[in-house]
Amino acid sequence: DPSMHTEAMQWLELETDLRTALERKEFFLEFHPLVRMESGRVKGFEALIRWAHPTRGIVPPGGFVSIAEESGLITSIGRWVLMDVGRTATTWSHDDDFDAPSVSVNIAAKQLESDTLLNVVRLALGISGLDPRRLILEFTESNVMREPEAVRVKLEALKELGVRLAIDDFGTGYSSLSYLQYFPVDELKIDRSFVRLIESSDRAAALVRTIVSLARSLSVEVVAEGIEDIGQEWYLRRINCDIGQGDLYSRPLPVQDVEAFLARARAVRTRSDRPPCNDAPSSDAGDALRQRRLLRPPGLPPDFPLCLLPPPWPPCRP
Ligand code: C2E
Ligand code: MG
Ligand code: MG
Repeated sequence: DPSMHTEAMQWLELETDLRTALERKEFFLEFHPLVRMESGRVKGFEALIRWAHPTRGIVPPGGFVSIAEESGLITSIGRWVLMDVGRTATTWSHDDDFDAPSVSVNIAAKQLESDTLLNVVRLALGISGLDPRRLILEFTESNVMREPEAVRVKLEALKELGVRLAIDDFGTGYSSLSYLQYFPVDELKIDRSFVRLIESSDRAAALVRTIVSLARSLSVEVVAEGIEDIGQEWYLRRINCDIGQGDLYSRPLPVQDVEAFLARARAVRTRSDRPPCNDAPSSDAGDALRQRRLLRPPGLPPDFPLCLLPPPWPPCRP
């Protein structure tokens, strides 16, 4: 099939270009905010890699991470990510240790398999001076479940460094729930394919609710990924999801915009924290919210993060 040939050629070309991309400093990171749902405070950021390709423009990770994995280049790219994250996150301003934003880094399967990950993380922490408690390493559910016993030993060694661990894309990888209790994880990230369906599918909503209560009973914090509208946020707050991430709060931010985002979030926080979720019991809260979603406040720039709006916040049912 000619289309397969074209695809194979493109893959080969990208792989060739990837080999020199690190030296040419073509990678950069964007930072996606994570927000505490109860208070509206910025909890931290997830570092997301992008490739400024000389002729193709900005290539998102979906366009090259699997090529980097297959060619083995992901190990050196992943090392660069950890080093860069350490350097960057130590510059972010904060009032005290409690307030210091966390930074999450995605770790690929090949990195997890390699024997060097522990040393690379240790080195990144040592060189940057980043407090290990601020670093969260994200592993996808399917990667940790591939060889759960071996992975558990590795995760435990990483935990000894003081970093935090998260299971990413939770719900898509056929977890054995019995293993979940043995993994030393601190966060579960619910995949955005479920969050997207919360309002249209009762089953998806029930699943999300179950994952939240599962996480709670394992004393693990739960993050909902891919929150794009206020109705989804409303539901997640109502079921006591801890942390939200998604374009509702902000698109992934270029590194130079992180500080301004933190400053705006802090300015709102000093005025008032979010009221608790049971602030405005109302039987027609859902309808009100659906209208609200359509009626974005006039004059608001389209990219203004709604979490930074001053109260009153959207109502929630008790
Ligand atoms: P992920 O770790 O699950 O990251 C979340 C992805 O969902 C990001 O896409 C983020 O921009 C997107 N996302 C989050 N909320 C929303 C939303 O509300 N709407 C929309 N449309 N998108 C949302 P991105 O940056 O394209 O990254 C895709 C995947 O690439 C990541 O999924 C992660 O698996 C991988 N990746 C990103 N950076 C790295 C990296 O440095 N190393 C490795 N190994 N993988 C990475
Ligand atoms: Mg992730
Ligand atoms: Mg994810």
